[in-house]
Amino acid sequence: MEITGITQHRLQHELPAPFDASWVPGGQQTELAVDLFEVHTDEGITGVTAMPSFPGGLDLEPVFESQLVGENPHHVERILDFLDTVEFLGADARYIEVALWDIIGKDAGKPIYELLGGDDEPIAAYASTGAIKPAEERLDYVADRVAEGFEAVKLRFGSPDVETDLDVARTIREEFPDLTLMVDANNGWSMRLAGEVGHEWSLAEAKQVAAGLEAIGDVAWLEEPLPQRNYQRLAELRDSTSIAIAGGESTGGLASFREYIDHRSLDVLQPDAIFATGILDGKKVAGMAEAFGFEFAPHTWSNGIGLAANLHLLAATQAQWCEYPHEPPGFLPEERDFMLKETIVTEDGYVTPPDDPGLGVDIDWDVVEATEV
Ligand SMILES: [Mg+2]
Repeated sequence: MEITGITQHRLQHELPAPFDASWVPGGQQTELAVDLFEVHTDEGITGVTAMPSFPGGLDLEPVFESQLVGENPHHVERILDFLDTVEFLGADARYIEVALWDIIGKDAGKPIYELLGGDDEPIAAYASTGAIKPAEERLDYVADRVAEGFEAVKLRFGSPDVETDLDVARTIREEFPDLTLMVDANNGWSMRLAGEVGHEWSLAEAKQVAAGLEAIGDVAWLEEPLPQRNYQRLAELRDSTSIAIAGGESTGGLASFREYIDHRSLDVLQPDAIFATGILDGKKVAGMAEAFGFEFAPHTWSNGIGLAANLHLLAATQAQWCEYPHEPPGFLPEERDFMLKETIVTEDGYVTPPDDPGLGVDIDWDVVEATEV
């Protein structure tokens, strides 16, 4: 089998309400922009992958074609060896590997996780918020998720004063003593889409938050409290608290995870199959976590295709938690998965990996056509 070409579709899907993502300080997201890639083969099988985009984004079709046309999509290890050329030419390209697995799975007639030794056991999902909201509003959200069967919710921290964020968590803990909480500070990497860069915590502020969370209790982890490559500072924080420290969603591949392990910077390794590692190297990170006694909990927040890719990574490992992005009214699961014929849903707080061949998702090509710019 040979790769014969790449098609890039730039999609812009309007959200039903503006979404104030905590990682875009001062900015309001009114649409979900996605670069959807098709990888075509001479046997008529096409694989897909997707990456977050932005208005006027990059034309990557020629870059990927220059590297991938003529290659056998089954030869993932070989292709991973030269994806740094794509990086050199202007794009971090690990997400293209997801389309190779989509092809391999379709060719084999099996879901990706099954080819990687996984199973179709439902995975416990945590409801992942995306915005910083006052306590009363967040209490309603948590009540709705708990009614749906969720046993864990991830809050976003990033208010000017960390005590404001801690107060929200304290209020939720009072009302929901059994709820598992995760906290994400999004201080790992910058997302300068709205003309501002957010305030990053000092080590002292991170320690203050960790101490506050210790008192609140049943906090699964504190995510990205400090810049993602500040390995030593993260280790200092980790040494100072019993709260697990998590990160790694957007780091560049295996080497960064080796640094986290070497420096004892984190407790929870969180590669994303789209942003950080692809699926195969994500599984290698799971192996590193297993061997060195770290937790493994992939990041998933991008769009329906990204969630599906990470679900296969989760199902192919023994990960405990699946991040389930959900922030009404703007970022609902149906909006997140707008390019899919069927929304990826939870049942009683669990999510089941798609079991059709490859990624197992059915792209709605009418929607692709309608949202393409
Ligand atoms: Mg995060």
